[in-house]
Amino acid sequence: MRFPEKILQTICQFLLPTACVTCQEFQKFSVCITCLNSLKSNALFNYQCCYKCGIALQADELIEQRCATCQRNPPYFDETVCLDRYEEMLQTPLHELKYQKRIAFASALSNVWNLLMSKELENTPADYLLPVPLSNQKLAQRGFNQSWELAKRIACGKHMQKSPYILQRHHSSGRQAGSSLDNRRSAIQDMFYIEAKYIDSLRGKSVVVFDDVMTSGATLNEIARVLKDNGVSRVMNWVVLRAARPI
Ligand SMILES: [Zn+2]
Ligand SMILES: [Zn+2]
Repeated sequence: MRFPEKILQTICQFLLPTACVTCQEFQKFSVCITCLNSLKSNALFNYQCCYKCGIALQADELIEQRCATCQRNPPYFDETVCLDRYEEMLQTPLHELKYQKRIAFASALSNVWNLLMSKELENTPADYLLPVPLSNQKLAQRGFNQSWELAKRIACGKHMQKSPYILQRHHSSGRQAGSSLDNRRSAIQDMFYIEAKYIDSLRGKSVVVFDDVMTSGATLNEIARVLKDNGVSRVMNWVVLRAARPI
């Protein structure tokens, strides 16, 4: 967080009550203690999840520690860590950030991430933390990349370099949300690329890719494919909200 932003936030915390971004209760913090405690004990990260794709495991998958889908078709990425399920209490604040353009919600959500996840993840052996990119057209339309707004506020070890410039995305006219899995896969093929001047510096490195939502995993899988094709040795995903597996 930038220094003036931090000072302003600290002053506001003392002078003004804040509505909790999940329950709307007025109190001191962007997320109230009750909601934070609820996340602390119920959020997805408490559960046994597939180490590859982050989805909650079913009983018959526990021995392998991988879901049936990842056992059948191993993805290109090596590991995924998710904070919570898409359908739960952080969905509304994330929509406020993404669709209502309320950037303050990026601070609240990354604050939740930092309180719940950072201690465990600060020593992750990775060289880069890269947000899933938007195309330039989409970026111009929305005005910001929600994944970068979150990623830049995430606490991680100083050994990890954050950058929104390394991974790039071509523009697609087709809408991705709601398409079938096969359509999504073909729609995103060759959609991502690495900015040419960074290709050499990524070779042999470990990369964390940060996304706000993981649905089918097709986007993150395609990014991991591109990264590995360019010599990246290990790709991990850090995701705020993970959609449930399709029924
Ligand atoms: Zn609350
Ligand atoms: Zn899996």
